[in-house]
Amino acid sequence: MIRIKNLTKSFGELQVLKDISMEIGKSEVVVLIGASGSGKSTLLRCLNFLEIADSGEIQIEGEKIHPQKNNLNHVRQEVGMVFQHFNLFPHMSVLENVMEAPVHVRKVNKSAARQKAIELLIKVGLADKANVYPEQLSGGQKQRVAIARALAMEPKVMLFDEPTSALDPELVGEVLQVMKELAKEGMTMVVVTHEMGFAREVADRVVMLADGVIVEEGHPTDIFTSPKHERTQRFLKQIV
Ligand code: ADP
Ligand code: MG
Repeated sequence: MIRIKNLTKSFGELQVLKDISMEIGKSEVVVLIGASGSGKSTLLRCLNFLEIADSGEIQIEGEKIHPQKNNLNHVRQEVGMVFQHFNLFPHMSVLENVMEAPVHVRKVNKSAARQKAIELLIKVGLADKANVYPEQLSGGQKQRVAIARALAMEPKVMLFDEPTSALDPELVGEVLQVMKELAKEGMTMVVVTHEMGFAREVADRVVMLADGVIVEEGHPTDIFTSPKHERTQRFLKQIV
């Protein structure tokens, strides 16, 4: 589904991604771990072309994406993203949030977009909140709306950047549950998270990033029970 080849990205003097190569198969769930500042968000943002890598290439379904030539809005439709801080439109109802991109970017007609949005709100368990505004929702509910909003564009891949890190502990489970169901349905997902229970249960592969380099990757059972790289060992000790 996605092939990343020799990706590099610097901010000024700081090289944040150093020659990253990886492949993500269709329906695969990859959990990306690593200390703060290791480049996890930058990698996700490059996959969604919110950041343009300095060198290397990204292929989506075999097609190399050229930031200069390809229509990046089109690419972003295929790669949905969910952020730590939800980023809902505060002046729009929940339903309007979910309908916004299909109507204004994809030019789907309003009644079809509304129908689809309602289905997605049912899927994330928020059909009864369709007409309320984001400020009336809990963090967990906001994040579930953000997931529904991303899904409304019918992406081929979903990227999650610490989707539960801003939530009170008792709200984490409801968001992870929605993500688990998505994985079960076969969605291709790249998830940055510190929720190791989720990674054990759902990930096909865990990838450990340290200082912009993939230092280790493998099946969650192997990574968590017998991490080989010293950086992975140290990181896992810190977070549990
Ligand atoms: P992570 O998500 O793993 O915590 P990030 O990808 O957010 O790491 O950041 C990696 C490094 O790049 C950090 O040192 C961060 O300060 C720096 N960085 C990220 N985005 C920018 C930016 N837009 N401008 C300058 N530095 C940035
Ligand atoms: Mg980050």
